[in-house]
Amino acid sequence: MLANDGHQVTVIERDPAPPPLPGEAWDHWECRGVSQFRMIHVLLAASTEVAQRQIPGFVEALTAAGGLDLNPLSGLPDAITGGARPGDERLRMVTARRPVFESVMAALADAADGVTVLRGVAVGGLLTDPAVAQPTHVVGVVTDGGQEFRADVVVHCGGRRSAMPDPIAAAGGQRPAEQIEDSGFVYYARHFRSADGSIPMAFGSLLQHYPTISTLTLPADNGTWGVGIVTAGRDAPLRGLTDTDRWTAVVKAHPFVAHWVDAEPLTDVKVMAGSEDRRRSFIAGGKPVVTGLLPLADAWACTNPSLGRGVSIGLLHASALRSTLHGETFDDHYGLALRWHHATERDVEPYYDDTLAFDRHRLAEVHAAIDGRDYQPNDPVWTFTRNLAASTAKDPDLFRAQIHVGMLLDRLPTVMQDTELVARAAQLADHSPIPGPERAELLALAARS
Ligand SMILES: Cc1cc2nc3c(=O)[nH]c(=O)nc-3n(C[C@H](O)[C@H](O)[C@H](O)COP(=O)(O)OP(=O)(O)OC[C@H]3O[C@@H](n4cnc5c(N)ncnc54)[C@H](O)[C@@H]3O)c2cc1C
Repeated sequence: MLANDGHQVTVIERDPAPPPLPGEAWDHWECRGVSQFRMIHVLLAASTEVAQRQIPGFVEALTAAGGLDLNPLSGLPDAITGGARPGDERLRMVTARRPVFESVMAALADAADGVTVLRGVAVGGLLTDPAVAQPTHVVGVVTDGGQEFRADVVVHCGGRRSAMPDPIAAAGGQRPAEQIEDSGFVYYARHFRSADGSIPMAFGSLLQHYPTISTLTLPADNGTWGVGIVTAGRDAPLRGLTDTDRWTAVVKAHPFVAHWVDAEPLTDVKVMAGSEDRRRSFIAGGKPVVTGLLPLADAWACTNPSLGRGVSIGLLHASALRSTLHGETFDDHYGLALRWHHATERDVEPYYDDTLAFDRHRLAEVHAAIDGRDYQPNDPVWTFTRNLAASTAKDPDLFRAQIHVGMLLDRLPTVMQDTELVARAAQLADHSPIPGPERAELLALAARS
């Protein structure tokens, strides 16, 4: 994106392996720098929309690599969708397994004019300008091997586990404040492939909430898909889901998703625990703690991934970075740091806040269900979230609102400005539980030998 705007970009990537052909990425590409590399992923419609505007060739290349190109409205009866409407094309999503879409993206970057990708090179520290006292001004990076790279600006995009506050402190700067909480969820996931390239039919949403677990069924490329069970970390009896037979028995006990595991498994159960919600603030008391260094995507903030938003938020953030740096002359770094902070606050932070709010409610709801309590917080946004999910099949406007929010094309607080819609969701909501095992049966399945 930045190179398309005329910037000369050097990407410094610790993982050594270049992207293979997309068809070989799943089996052969090792990217240890991304611990969730082979966990189930989906690219929401927001990712497709940003890519279509900002990354020429990505959607076409991903489709050519077998990426699944779908619109969740297509094939559904008019009784549910209300028929085709202007704007429905925004719901197009082109998605794939993570190694596949990343190989396509990385190959585009490798081939782009104005981009130099250095692989197998780790950033170990920051170069700063000794002539600037406060705030610390970054003028480049130094690699673990001691090589120096100077730049007009350093984009810090080292992901969820990046430890950038340490290098800033080591360079004499003030550490960015970090707001961290364990999201409290654990993921147990597998990938599958059909014999004929087809994808199972989805009954309802790709993310289904049961009292104490959620299920994820994520269609992907070349007749593959991911299936995940999300539990609360403190739900110790469900840790038995690491066992493939128990995991399969639990999925099979949920009629709406059982058929997603009747296929060739590509993996056993992959587990991801301890995923934090973490946000870094590079502004303190209205002033930047560092200049010349702009945090991007997960390096800025990351959340529990069950809503499948991380890549889309990252791409929206990258799009905001492109706009912020458009025509930038780099002679006012203090102002640039503030402009970047405000662009982040305006364009992506609301999605982060929404996701965090959802996570907190959902975790509290699961904990309440484990304890046999009801969860009825006095929060109109949560009430609407629940009513919307329970009314979508009954009203085309509510259906679209739900999909737009799920695809990160809209925000719940924006949708809620339509008070008549909120009232209609409350009126139509049917909160009968989705078919699935009672808690005692669930525990028995997760413990059986
Ligand atoms: C279990 C799980 C499931 C998820 N599912 C989804 C999903 O379905 N949909 C979705 O949109 N998002 C999902 N996410 C989130 C998504 O994976 C992240 O939001 C996304 O990868 C963030 O991209 P990024 O570029 O910021 O960081 P990353 O993808 O983590 O990339 C960071 C890169 O920086 C490199 N690096 C780090 N440190 C250094 C260094 N010192 N020097 C050089 N290179 C370095 C790493 O090697 C890596 O390549 C999921 C996350 C998890 C944990």
